[in-house]
Amino acid sequence: MTITATQAAGPLNVTVNETVNETVHLLPQTRQLRALHTVIRDRHADLGRFVTTSGRIIRQLIETALDLLPYEPVDVQTPVGETYHGLRPAKPICGVPVVRAGESMEHELRAVSPGVRIGKILIQRDKVTKLPRLYYSALPADIDRHSVLLLDPMLATGGTALAAVEVLLDHGVAEDDIVFVALLSAPEGIAAVHARHPNLRIVTSAIEERLNENAYMIPGIGDFGDRYFGTDVPR
Ligand code: URA
Repeated sequence: MTITATQAAGPLNVTVNETVNETVHLLPQTRQLRALHTVIRDRHADLGRFVTTSGRIIRQLIETALDLLPYEPVDVQTPVGETYHGLRPAKPICGVPVVRAGESMEHELRAVSPGVRIGKILIQRDKVTKLPRLYYSALPADIDRHSVLLLDPMLATGGTALAAVEVLLDHGVAEDDIVFVALLSAPEGIAAVHARHPNLRIVTSAIEERLNENAYMIPGIGDFGDRYFGTDVPR
């Protein structure tokens, strides 16, 4: 399997597994990224450190995702009267966080690109059917003209991701205009997404070993939303 956009081998001894391919963009596994992950995976990390440190990783994910979008040529005049042959995004950008954990990524996207539009999707697992159910969405009416960054920090079983992608496709967004951005991804989640959408691009900072019996990632981070928003049980 071809490996692109990853430098995950080397002194850190990070396993590059079969789930990494042309559509999975794993952030370069630098020492700094490993150190950031060490902070947020520590069960004793306090709320402030968790928020700032996960924000630093999310910023890297957003920058990587923005680089996957289409760009078009544009010339600008520099202060010394010369022409710089540059680029600008070819389409307007819309960020769509999956409520609630995905909202942790909205701030970093807006910090990088204040003019982006922001949609929202709320999907939760139905207590009876156990299937993901769409409770709410608010998306720009012309979202089909946008490049869409679908934001959810946890790609675990892939159920929520698939349901969110369906919402975007139902609103006319083309599959190749979607980039799914996840801080942690499980091989099972990546496989589930790609079984239905083989070309959907995923940007992630870590691919975990597996899911446990409660669908938490291993080694994982716990419940990301609870930890980010401080609604977890105090230890
Ligand atoms: N959601 C989380 O917050 N954490 C996991 O490990 C899996 C899903």
